[in-house]
Amino acid sequence: LTQLFRPLDMLGMVYRTIRQGLIDMAEMFRLLDTEVEVPDAPGAPALIVRQPSIVFDDVVFGYDKDRTILQGLSFEVPAGQAFAIVGPSGAGKSTIARLLFRFYDPLSGRILIDGQDIRNVTQASLRKAIGIVPQDSVLFNDTIGYNIGYGREGAGADEIIAAAQGAALTGLIARLPQGFDTEVGERGLKLSGGEKQRVAIARTLVKNPPILILDEATSALDTRTEQDILATLHRVAEHRTSLTIAHRLSTIADADRILVLNEGRLAESGRHAELLRRDGLYAEMWARQAAEAEEIGEAAQ
Ligand code: ATP
Repeated sequence: LTQLFRPLDMLGMVYRTIRQGLIDMAEMFRLLDTEVEVPDAPGAPALIVRQPSIVFDDVVFGYDKDRTILQGLSFEVPAGQAFAIVGPSGAGKSTIARLLFRFYDPLSGRILIDGQDIRNVTQASLRKAIGIVPQDSVLFNDTIGYNIGYGREGAGADEIIAAAQGAALTGLIARLPQGFDTEVGERGLKLSGGEKQRVAIARTLVKNPPILILDEATSALDTRTEQDILATLHRVAEHRTSLTIAHRLSTIADADRILVLNEGRLAESGRHAELLRRDGLYAEMWARQAAEAEEIGEAAQ
């Protein structure tokens, strides 16, 4: 841990800040697959989050003028609730995350966080309020402590240790030759997909944002690892507002509300059991995934 306690000189701070910025951006762009920036409104105040609710109010959006992706989308995630977004590929799920981060502005309609139009606040404050746990995380060629700590500039060793505990990484770190000071990544120790995801969770815990976007991995982790990670994510999402972009419906069955997106519109929304009773798009997707799971199960026998 000596490295974590080592005082950072000014140059180190600058280096760390730049590097953190670059990596955050690189990760974000990789995740969100975009490079567009929209400017802050002149004199924009910071977002103040007391009750982290999210509102999409009749949002119309398209990447190109002649093709709209979101066709007047409205929904509200009340503060502290766990919502999930599902829908066919290309329905616009990730687009919602991109708009929340203000990589783009809606063509019409508004997006509010705690009642404030995100167009009118600084992007720095907006992005500070939102944490993303991406599908697969980028690790630096640096120590595991560093990889966790860059969730927030100036994070102390105690916060890094607490975050590692919260992300159930303590067992792994205890087994590493130099604990938190073990080098990971390309030139260091290779971590598994599940372990990398835990580092991303720990990083988010260090950042401690009131709003979480969880981009569920499409790539399969083994079922046990996945169950463990889901349990960790559920814990992390407690007392926060969360939006999970889900590909497998089994993982979000206990969400407070499931938004079913189809062709840029809210096709259905409700809790899992309600949506099954409705016998619509969600029930159809559920039946299809259940049949697939059964096939895989049979094949494995
Ligand atoms: P998936 O489940 O496959 O990840 P999704 O529901 O997240 O899909 P989005 O990524 O939101 O879908 O994309 C919605 C639509 O917008 C798609 O038709 C996609 O091709 C289009 N799209 C996404 N990004 C861009 C972009 N940068 N420029 C133009 N079109 C884009």
